Amino acid sequence: MSASSTSSGKQIDLRSDTVTLPTPAMRRAMAEAMVGDDVFGEDPTVNELEAQTAVVLGKEAALFVPSGTMANQIAVRTHTEHGDEIVVESSAHIYYYEAGGPAALSGVMCRCVTGRRGIFSGADLEAVLRPPDQHFPPTRLVCIENTHNRGGGSVWRLDQIADVAAVAKRRGLRLHMDGARLWNAAVATGVSERDLAAPFDSVSVCFSKGLGAPVGSALAGSKEFIARARRFRKQFGGGMRQAGIIAAGALHALHNHRSRLAEDHANAKRLAQGLSRLPGVAIDVESVETNIVLFRVTGGSATEFVRKLDALGVRMLATGADTIRAVTNLNVSGEDITVALEIIAAMCTGSGN
Ligand SMILES: *Cc1c(COP(=O)(O)O)cnc(C)c1O
Repeated sequence: MSASSTSSGKQIDLRSDTVTLPTPAMRRAMAEAMVGDDVFGEDPTVNELEAQTAVVLGKEAALFVPSGTMANQIAVRTHTEHGDEIVVESSAHIYYYEAGGPAALSGVMCRCVTGRRGIFSGADLEAVLRPPDQHFPPTRLVCIENTHNRGGGSVWRLDQIADVAAVAKRRGLRLHMDGARLWNAAVATGVSERDLAAPFDSVSVCFSKGLGAPVGSALAGSKEFIARARRFRKQFGGGMRQAGIIAAGALHALHNHRSRLAEDHANAKRLAQGLSRLPGVAIDVESVETNIVLFRVTGGSATEFVRKLDALGVRMLATGADTIRAVTNLNVSGEDITVALEIIAAMCTGSGN
């Protein structure tokens, strides 16, 4: 069975949904894109992407940016002034994975709420909020992440969003959603991106994760908010010129790759079910809601497991001493999942090598 990877010669890459390569149709759209200087507002493809993203998210305007990190950090900067406080979940991408951006770029303090798989309640939020007082930094913004990356692709339901939004509104706080994988949340819940985004003042989305575009993210909000955000995009060095070439890939992804995320979710579920039957693996199959599969190895280190698996043609990411992440994506088929499970089973039972 261990010959499966070498027989096809294909690497089954489950490290992230960012490893996806543009499809031939996407490359064609990019090659043929009409372009202009976007800093002058003259790139028709960027303008179209921004307009259509705003429509999908139910906001007045959107801004095309190079990365999800920049979209989030521009949002933080646009909502705040130096010395303000923002509330983030303790394993949120904005706080955990963005290189200290809130401190470095916006000069804000982060106050953390610890959720369950990244999801917290209105009461959890209330518990960390302090009254206006000269001793305290003014709290300005609350961020949630949907789906939650380190939470294992966990989905915020509408009622959970409404609960947090009600507290934020009552306390006069702005709300930002890191929706890098909002597309996955929409497919998993059957609720539109627009409805999931409705309570938020700003939303960031990525085209370069599950949607499979090579580059690009967007930030959406009111016209006034996006006008201010546009200045910070320039200040942060994200003003691009003939960006229509990459915007065309994002536009193609927005139109053609959202509904197919259901396949990634089904593949993730089947991968989790297969893993749950193996010795030396601990996994909660129920916790797999979208395209991210988190599991533990019980008899060794995650790094070692991943290294061995890599040599057999299946790539995953060690995210802790004994935790591993696998993310299904556009470049991994149902058949690839079957092959990957055979390879992992052979490795775990020691029958393959
Ligand atoms: C990937 C990701 C981002 C942005 O990542 P970039 O690599 O900067 O595009 C933001 N938030 C979450 C939750 C993510 O998973």
